[in-house]
Amino acid sequence: MLVQSSVPPRPVNPSAAFAAASALRSALSSSAAASAAFDGRPGLPDARGRALRDLRISVTDRCNFRCTYCMPAEVFGRDFAFLPRELVLSFEEIARLASIFVALGVHKLRITGGEPLSRRDLPVLVRHLSGLRTAEGLPVDLTLTTNGSALRALAGPLAEAGLQRITVSLDSLDDEVFGRMNGVDFPVARVLDGIAAARSAGLTPIKVNTVIRRGMNEASILPLARWARAEGLILRFIEYMDVGHTNGWRLDDVVPAMEILESLDAEMPLESVEAGYRGEVAGRYRYRDGSGEVGVIASVTRPFCGDCTRARLSADGSLYTCLFAVAGTDLKGPMRAGASDDDLAGLITGLWAARTDQYSELRSAATADLPKVEMHALGG
Ligand code: SAM
Repeated sequence: MLVQSSVPPRPVNPSAAFAAASALRSALSSSAAASAAFDGRPGLPDARGRALRDLRISVTDRCNFRCTYCMPAEVFGRDFAFLPRELVLSFEEIARLASIFVALGVHKLRITGGEPLSRRDLPVLVRHLSGLRTAEGLPVDLTLTTNGSALRALAGPLAEAGLQRITVSLDSLDDEVFGRMNGVDFPVARVLDGIAAARSAGLTPIKVNTVIRRGMNEASILPLARWARAEGLILRFIEYMDVGHTNGWRLDDVVPAMEILESLDAEMPLESVEAGYRGEVAGRYRYRDGSGEVGVIASVTRPFCGDCTRARLSADGSLYTCLFAVAGTDLKGPMRAGASDDDLAGLITGLWAARTDQYSELRSAATADLPKVEMHALGG
């Protein structure tokens, strides 16, 4: 049964946000760099002409996995100080900020974390977010990324609350390899069962995210691809990234997307598919025999900063304009101090307008050691 909402429905008055957005757009239209790159679709352009279109919302900094590349157990042990409850945004606060972002042109919301399904009563938040409408009056594109461990219990309530589709992370079909990567010996079968539950609940199409790390799970590439193709799942291989600074990232640990594609193509011939929309992060390929699609997210070897339309809201209410940021801007403080929707829209607008981030395009040995915010904190 879906938990009843404790969040009162909130009327959205986006007029001020739209006014701020159009004032900003006209101010920026005089900037040659911005107007040259701006793709003409609604949404606030940043200083490089990239529109604000997507918001990733981290609902918790906690996770029940200790993936070696994200929250290694040596660092995130029993004594690790996660956010105290009072510093985490409430559902009311998240829904309020999301409505302001949508009024500013965001059309896609992705719920993430940490492990989002470990946040209590998550369907309540989903119900509120699924009620948001874009300026064109369309429902927002609402999705969620999860490790799948609690999907058996939650897939139905999430779908009922209005979640449309889901992405599940799974790094191997081999229990030994998967257990080593997830850091808690979590069995593959339970994730597969979660995926089955998501399918029965209609959370489709289902995407599967796989991080490939050299020396850990390259041997899992082909078995995962065969399985996903047979199951009708959209598998996306992600290059191991230098997010945060606790995973000891080295360029040598990255398996380039091209290498992954070559090994897939040798067994299951591929052809490329045009991006579904500007800013899509995955390079998409289809199997030539028509049996489905696979993707690669080549953030290290083929950075896509030039098309990045994503902002990230951390569990404690900071706004980050890049996955590799060293700092965010606090929205929770002003909100709790009584800022109006217009004030918050102005803050977001100003921040986005000044955005110049292009970390992945500038990545080098020197940037790997920057004190970047951890992915579990700002939302993957
Ligand atoms: N707990 C959820 C999950 O497992 O999907 C959501 C959060 S997790 C941080 C989001 C995605 O980021 C996962 O697919 C994970 O594999 C990926 N990820 C985490 N650290 C990464 C890294 N260093 N490089 C590439 N992908 C990473």
